[in-house]
Amino acid sequence: MSNWLPSDFYGNALILSQTGKPLCTLNRKRIEWYLKRGLAEEVTPPEGYPRAIQLNFKAKLDIRNPKSYELAIIRTECVLCGSKDKLTIHHVVPQCIRKLFPLHEKARARQWCVLLCVKCHKNVEDITQAVYRNNYPKGEVANVVKDRILLRRLKGMGILYKLDPDRYDRFMASAGYKTEADIPGPPTKEEERELPHITSKLHRQKLSQWGHDFISNHGGIPGTKEYFRNLFLDFKPQYLPTGYLDL
Ligand SMILES: [Zn+2]
Repeated sequence: MSNWLPSDFYGNALILSQTGKPLCTLNRKRIEWYLKRGLAEEVTPPEGYPRAIQLNFKAKLDIRNPKSYELAIIRTECVLCGSKDKLTIHHVVPQCIRKLFPLHEKARARQWCVLLCVKCHKNVEDITQAVYRNNYPKGEVANVVKDRILLRRLKGMGILYKLDPDRYDRFMASAGYKTEADIPGPPTKEEERELPHITSKLHRQKLSQWGHDFISNHGGIPGTKEYFRNLFLDFKPQYLPTGYLDL
């Protein structure tokens, strides 16, 4: 099974309000959803659009004016090289930052997700991560807890001496124990069960703190968006859909 996006990812079918006002474009799945439930009818699409449906009820969407990118016909292709193969979704504002944004920012995020082929995606991630992940927490705390539990298990089994001396020293240093006497008894069942929970919780807290610091150091939400927008534009995307990454 492949993880690549389908070639009709965007679909570009237009959805019209009950009064015939264009609301946004949808992919095939969403179109079928409306049609199957009898909420819309297939109509002749305006020029350029492959399909169109018209709602047969008054929708909430009706009262807002769609943004240009919501009506734009978007090609399913890599925005950097134009390839149509092995496409993936790239979040221009990385998830570790974006998840700290307020809800209304996350809800209107479509134009901040662009398509990249797997090759360009790896290149973009490698380069952008090298630039923005300054002092990024790497889960050292998790390792400390894991190494402590490991030493306690080995001591409990009476086989600490079987560890290679270099590895023993490394584990002890990482766990923060000086002598064998510092190592408490074997971990309880409870501690064993809590382990993955504790470690990921600590790491999550560190990541979240790092993200909040990043946002405040980059001028809040608008400054953070501007930062990642510029970082992505440095790759000179030739096929960026109209209205994408607009602030
Ligand atoms: Zn590409």
